[in-house]
Amino acid sequence: MTFLRRLATDILHFMLPPRCIVCGNRLTNGESHLCINCLGSLPRTNFHLSDQNAMEQMFWGRINIVRATALFYYQGEETHTVLHNLKYYDNPDVGRHLGMVMAEEALDSGFFQDIDAIVPVPLHNRKERKRGYNQCLYIAEGLSEVTGIKVLHKEMVRLVNTKTQTRLSKDERWENVQDIFAPSRRCKVLPTCQHVLIIDDVVTTGSTLISLAKAIESVNHGIRFSVLSLAFASEFRYTQETNPALSSQHSDE
Ligand SMILES: [Zn+2]
Repeated sequence: MTFLRRLATDILHFMLPPRCIVCGNRLTNGESHLCINCLGSLPRTNFHLSDQNAMEQMFWGRINIVRATALFYYQGEETHTVLHNLKYYDNPDVGRHLGMVMAEEALDSGFFQDIDAIVPVPLHNRKERKRGYNQCLYIAEGLSEVTGIKVLHKEMVRLVNTKTQTRLSKDERWENVQDIFAPSRRCKVLPTCQHVLIIDDVVTTGSTLISLAKAIESVNHGIRFSVLSLAFASEFRYTQETNPALSSQHSDE
């Protein structure tokens, strides 16, 4: 941060002290967006510490998955407030901050090992113009700041502006997002990668991420994927019936 920018921020903070986006208390030095209590109270998944977690299982047999994790479970008012801030209150820096928090928490576990690049889920142009930013890109940038792994956000595009997934069943969600991504004309690095980390804000059924991964596979057969999101909404139970790959050990590698 340059001297002038820091000075401007200090003056702004003096006139309008920043407050925690969850509880509204004034933030103290060293806190950013969330106070230390609210940040600590987000219900962590700690999936980065366990192999074969519920999130990873979503992708078994569907894509060549290596690891999957989310910062917190999507449950409770605090987590809704955080995601609403990120997506609808014009507060993308929350995403960057939580991306950094996540990277710091997962760094020592080896979660980021061997990853060549980070790919945020692209938004459709129209939606990105309307919102003004892609929240997944901000999460990716926060992760990159800590891990040093490059972000590729211009290599894949979203062709279809899908309607919201919220009220759809699992099958409808899959139909809703099938073939909605494609490599862009600038897709030069992805074909050379061996292992990429794809980023979403919330993962519910995994169908959006699977669709993006399939589009990446179209330019790089054999590429491996890890997945990371801020929130994991375990609305669906993955059983042998919904994913036959669960019937055996994770043996598709
Ligand atoms: Zn707070």
